[in-house]
Amino acid sequence: MTPSLEAETAAEPFFLAAPRSAYVHIPFCAHKCGYCDFASVAGQDELADRYLDALDREMASILTAPKDLETIFVGGGTPTYLNEAQLDRFLDRLVRWFPPGPATEFTVESNPNTLTREKVRSLVDHGVNRVSLGAQSFHPHLLERLERNHDPASVYRAVDLLKPVIANVSIDLIFGIPGQTMTDWQTDLREGLALPIEHVSSYGLTYEKGTLLWKQRRLGIIEPTEEETEAAMYEYLLEETLRAGFEQYEVSNFARQGELDRRSRHNSVYWANAPYYGFGTGAAAFVDGHRTLNLRPLLTYIETVEEGRSPIHQSESLPPEARARETAVLELRRTQGIDLSAFQRKTGFHFRDLAPRELEGFVELGLLIDDGNVVRLSPRGFLLADGIFSRIV
Ligand code: SF4
Repeated sequence: MTPSLEAETAAEPFFLAAPRSAYVHIPFCAHKCGYCDFASVAGQDELADRYLDALDREMASILTAPKDLETIFVGGGTPTYLNEAQLDRFLDRLVRWFPPGPATEFTVESNPNTLTREKVRSLVDHGVNRVSLGAQSFHPHLLERLERNHDPASVYRAVDLLKPVIANVSIDLIFGIPGQTMTDWQTDLREGLALPIEHVSSYGLTYEKGTLLWKQRRLGIIEPTEEETEAAMYEYLLEETLRAGFEQYEVSNFARQGELDRRSRHNSVYWANAPYYGFGTGAAAFVDGHRTLNLRPLLTYIETVEEGRSPIHQSESLPPEARARETAVLELRRTQGIDLSAFQRKTGFHFRDLAPRELEGFVELGLLIDDGNVVRLSPRGFLLADGIFSRIV
């Protein structure tokens, strides 16, 4: 399947445009949670200052001058686990590279028991206007099962600290935790949605290879939640968020409805398959049509950058058809789905030609909706999204 030369030429600027977004990774955490497969470390705080220097050096090696961006996202790890002086110094340097303007969405991830009044002040002073808080559950026994090291009360405290100065607060909630009943999940959602927050991200628990929970599951110490129960929990999530005034805009993401658009603009860049910078251990980037992945081991990353070498350890440039399939799957994650004409302009491919049998089959099964202009997941399709995506890729 070869796109016309004309279409492919038209597609080039989209993927090759200068990034308008940046992801910056801070890997430090107070403690490693039982399900965590992110590039995060606990007990290596003594490396934090060296890491922040390396991060600045990595940015200097890629950026020749400060850039105005639409979105900046500092994730982790737990960025707010840095001590007050480190957080201040890190943000000072970051905003020198990416000075946030009034329209920039500037998000920092946080965990409930890491925030202090001083840290919140530092976030605000540097232009942070969105905080994503890892609440996960409001039940002590479930937080314990996840090996989280915070209690439910710290979530309320964190929101109390943030809300007067940062209007846009998001929380993460997990369902399908071993031992979590439907009633537990109903309470978790009720508590979470009653908070003065603007956004919710909610995922079913996954057992990533090598994590503590993965090992416990293999040894039969914990029983994963039954598929049917997890599906019912997801359905309940869709109903309750809607009832509480949140709009689902992606498989796992919900934004408060109202005058202000509270959808995550940064994540929307990923779902549109648009370019973005990425800095830090394990960080992914998509620049000049190349997808790159940085070294993940903390000390190796630091030493590599200190020696003046690139921390990139994987790089690929997808052929046009694979890139179009990847774009299709990312766009399908959104409730707005794939706008077929825009997709063709963007990728050089007709979506219908890329996956004709899958499209027909999933429409017949009622999992995809095709109105002639747009293809999107049906409510039932959202439940089976991963299976649909893997067939299209
Ligand atoms: S706080 Fe987040 S990044 Fe840190 S260990 Fe827990 S899940 Fe992983």
